[in-house]
Amino acid sequence: MRGPKGDQRLIRDYNRGLVVNLLRTDGPMSRADLARRTGLAPSALTQRIRDLIEEGLVTEGGKKEASTGRPPTLVSFNPDYAAAVGVKIEGTRLRAARVNLAGEVCARYETSFHPSPEPSEVISLVEEAVEHLSDSHILGVGISISGFVDTINGIDIYSPILGWENVALADPLEDHLDLPVHLENDVNALTLAERWHGAGSDYRNFVCLTVGEGVGSGVVVNGSLYRGAFGGAGEVGHMMIDPSGPICRCGERGCLEVFASDQFLKREALRLGFADIAKLEQEAREGDVQAMDVFKQMGHYLGIGAKNLVNLLNPQAIVLGGERMEASDLFVAAFKSEVREHSFAEAAKDLEIVPALLGEDGFLIGAATIVAAEFFRLPTERTLR
Ligand SMILES: [Zn+2]
Repeated sequence: MRGPKGDQRLIRDYNRGLVVNLLRTDGPMSRADLARRTGLAPSALTQRIRDLIEEGLVTEGGKKEASTGRPPTLVSFNPDYAAAVGVKIEGTRLRAARVNLAGEVCARYETSFHPSPEPSEVISLVEEAVEHLSDSHILGVGISISGFVDTINGIDIYSPILGWENVALADPLEDHLDLPVHLENDVNALTLAERWHGAGSDYRNFVCLTVGEGVGSGVVVNGSLYRGAFGGAGEVGHMMIDPSGPICRCGERGCLEVFASDQFLKREALRLGFADIAKLEQEAREGDVQAMDVFKQMGHYLGIGAKNLVNLLNPQAIVLGGERMEASDLFVAAFKSEVREHSFAEAAKDLEIVPALLGEDGFLIGAATIVAAEFFRLPTERTLR
């Protein structure tokens, strides 16, 4: 059983977390507003603010407009108190950034490697990146990677782009770097970034749908990322659209990615006699009806996938991201019409469809945000690892 001292510490840490999280999400506020919003007694609040100012996590200064009397001094969260390193491991490239607690990129690093690398090689490159980007107060490292990831044990279960299976990444890196290291699926990381700092910040329930080489999604339920029982939630790219459709790279037939990703665009470009996606896109923009139809078809199928998600999850919004969004003008209209016209009416009535805001940086910001989320976690919430 926990003694009274332990309970007191828990209460103190919990109250500290309440104050700092409120300042982080809702901006500077007066002590009176903090007391009202947290429900803390003035003495407890004063003590917690004093501790936080001493730590450097909170600053005091600035005045609030007051209609009468002396304007109250504001208490603010200090986003530069610390930072985390966010890393994205791609097929032949590693990108990394130092990201502050407001999700702002402060420094970048990039390096490349040959295809199908040995895990030890990539681990060394991550270490180099972290050493290059580290300054005095790094809280930890977040790594985003495509494929199936065991976030709890920090193991890359299956990564087709790297040819890896069951590669332990977090533990060896933690040993070398002496920092907490978290591993996450790349689309989940992107979704977390959009939730904290981007297009999803106003929604407690949304789906982030990405389109590029494949189709992916991250699901936010009640404000938190939904990872599923084994970390594989959101593999929407392999939702079956047509059981007799073409074979997918996963081995099944007629998955969504076969009809709504770069794989589809490449196939159709070749069928129409265009060299690649860039040429297909150019022709579509110049009014080639067949090329335009290819993008419309992609939007239509992506809409079918989204519609299934909408009917299943009833989200407030779909946040659309991924590298193929640079051609969004060619397919988003068809996507929206499919989602709006054919979803079960009530589920789609007030659904918002918005573009992701953070672009490719979202993967790095999201990876760093996993570390920040652990830092801001209330002591009553479960740990990630
Ligand atoms: Zn598939």
